[in-house]
Amino acid sequence: MKVLVINCGSSSLKFQLIDSDSEAVICKGLCERIGIDGSQIVYTPAGKDKITKVTPMPDHNRAIELVIEALTNSENGVVSLDEIGAVGHRIVHGGEKFTKSVVIDEEVIKAIEDVSDLAPLHNPANLIGIRACQKAMPKVPMVAVFDTAFHQTMPEEAYLYGLPYSYYEKYGIRRYGFHGTSHSYVSKRAAEILGKDAKDLKLIVCHLGNGASISAVDGGKCIDTSMGLTPLEGLIMGTRSGDIDPSVVEFIMKKENSTVADVTNLLNKKSGVFGLSDELSSDFRDLQKGYEEGHAGAKRAVDAFVYRVVKYIGAYTAALGRVDAICFTAGVGENSGFVRNLICKRLSFLGATVDEEANKAHGEDKVFSGADSKVKLLIVPTNEELAIARDTVALCK
Ligand code: ADP
Repeated sequence: MKVLVINCGSSSLKFQLIDSDSEAVICKGLCERIGIDGSQIVYTPAGKDKITKVTPMPDHNRAIELVIEALTNSENGVVSLDEIGAVGHRIVHGGEKFTKSVVIDEEVIKAIEDVSDLAPLHNPANLIGIRACQKAMPKVPMVAVFDTAFHQTMPEEAYLYGLPYSYYEKYGIRRYGFHGTSHSYVSKRAAEILGKDAKDLKLIVCHLGNGASISAVDGGKCIDTSMGLTPLEGLIMGTRSGDIDPSVVEFIMKKENSTVADVTNLLNKKSGVFGLSDELSSDFRDLQKGYEEGHAGAKRAVDAFVYRVVKYIGAYTAALGRVDAICFTAGVGENSGFVRNLICKRLSFLGATVDEEANKAHGEDKVFSGADSKVKLLIVPTNEELAIARDTVALCK
C-alpha cells in the first residue's frame, strides 16, 4: 500500500509518500507560507532532484491539491491518485482520550476539537489538514497518530502537577508529553538493535532536536517524560526555556511592563540555547563552532543544555530503578558527537564509558558505549513519518 503521511502546521504542510511494503520513501516535500505571500511547494521524488514551485496557496485546501498534483502529474509524478491507499495524519494533542492511533471519523474529529484548547496553535491546523485531505480524497481511509499517545501509560504520580486536584479534574491540567511517536519508535528500535525483548529493557530516550524531550521507558511503556501540559517544560531547547520557576512569568511582566502573551512568546521563541548564547544561534552546529572558538555565550548555552539533560538522566535512572541503555535521537542527538560526548562524560555514576571512534557516527544506528560500559549508549535515528505510516497501514488493512 502507498501511504501519504501529512504533518500540517498553521502555515506549513510536510508530506511523505511511503511504500508500506518496502518502507521506502517515494516522494517527500513541504508546502511553506500557506496563506502568506510567497508560498511555495518544494518536493523531491525518490532518486530525482528537488523541485520548487512558487505558487499562490491561499489555504490548506489548495496546498493539498498541489501535493496531489506533485505526486500524480504526468511529467515527474510518482503515483496515480487511486494508488494512495491511506493517509496518516500527525496530530499534536490527543489529551487523555487517545492512547493510541485511530481511524478518523466524525467522532474522532470532534474529540480532537474538544482537546484543542490544550494545543491551540497545533490541533486546529492538524484538523484543517484532515478536512483538506478528506475533500481531495473522499474515499481514502485516514488515521490520526498522536504525539501524546505513547506517554499515556505514565502513572498518576508522574503526570500530576502539585496543584489543587480539582484543576486536573476540571481542566485536564497535567503532564501529557510530546514527541511520543519518536520516543515509541526509538525505544522499539533500540530493543531490536540490542537483540532484546522490549519487555525486559529499561531505557532512557533523549530526543534532542530543536524541540527536545527525554523519556523513561520501562518494559516498552513510558513511565515519565520531560514535556508537560505543553512542549515548553523540561529540557533547555533551541529557543524554549524548559523548566523555570513559574514565578518568573509575573516577575518579568512587572520588570518589563509586558503581558502574559509577551512572556509566553519570550519563553517559546527567544529563550533556550538561543537566549542563553546572547542570541548567537539556536543551531548546535553554530554553538559547537562558537564553543570551540571560545565564545562565552556558546559555552554557557551548551553547558546549561548538557547539564539539564544529565540531571534528567539522573532523575529517570531513579524513576526506573536501573537503566540498560540510553538512546540519542533527533537532529542533535543523531548528529552531534560533540554534545553526546559532553553528556556521556558526566554519566560515570552509571558506569558509562564512550567509544570515541563509534561516537563519530551520525545519522545511523550505532552502539557507541565502550566495551567496559555498564550501560549501553545508542544512536538511533528517529523516523516519525515511518512510524505514522506503519500505524496507518495496521489500522487500514
Ligand atoms: P525539530 O524537528 O525539532 O525542528 P530536528 O530534530 O530536525 O528539530 O533538529 C534540528 C536541530 O538539529 C538543528 O537546529 C541543529 O541544532 C541540530 N543539528 C542538525 N544537524 C546537526 C549536526 N550535524 N551537528 C550538530 N547539530 C545538528
